[in-house]
Amino acid sequence: MSRDAARARVAMVEGQLRRRGIRDERVLAAMERVPRERFVPAVLARDAYDDGALPIGAGQTISQPYMVAAMCELLALQGGERVLDVGTGSGYAAAVLAELAADVVSIERIPVLAERARATLAAAGYARVDVRVGDGSLGVADRAPFDAIAVAAAAPDVPPALPAQLGPGGRIVVPRGTRWSQQLVLLTASRTGLVERGTVACRFVPLVGAGGFEDDGEPLS
Ligand code: SAM
Repeated sequence: MSRDAARARVAMVEGQLRRRGIRDERVLAAMERVPRERFVPAVLARDAYDDGALPIGAGQTISQPYMVAAMCELLALQGGERVLDVGTGSGYAAAVLAELAADVVSIERIPVLAERARATLAAAGYARVDVRVGDGSLGVADRAPFDAIAVAAAAPDVPPALPAQLGPGGRIVVPRGTRWSQQLVLLTASRTGLVERGTVACRFVPLVGAGGFEDDGEPLS
């Protein structure tokens, strides 16, 4: 691990996360441990700790560090949970979740990204993340129930299959809105149904699938 990267991680945690109100010390420590530079294309390694999303190919992005931290904080993970990560992308958020929970299942619709993320996760010491290829808007029924579900792509509404795969007291975070702007929404399963709380404004790439937006036919390269 390079000393520059370690220094950049500390600066990211202090300058981007703590300063913006992330308070969960487990989340801050996890973000300080995961080598984000290994999850971005090699030509962008120097930009890995910038305060924003970066392209990862196939028209997709690795999310802004603050968004990853905010989603993890909302999930309030204690360490023993099973988590579903919808939209593997680079695998970075899955690695952060693996630092915070016992069991992480991550699903990506674009096979080339899923393959690359699987290899990156294994090389970075997160081989136990179960990376699947498929439509994550339908969840991963054979690994349900989940204690927490993080949807890392924008959905017009909460994909109906996901709450059905949540255990008691489980939580879902999802960017809900249009293709161009969303609000990060937290849903918590209670005995009387789902309790909803809106949080920050955000902008994610679209969730494409049965419980998301229609495929607009853009080439995946
Ligand atoms: N969390 C990722 C990371 O750390 O790199 C970034 C996720 S990126 C913002 C959103 C990802 O969701 C893209 O890789 C996209 O291909 C994927 N995606 C979109 N619709 C999906 C679906 N229905 N099922 C699974 N993945 C989907």
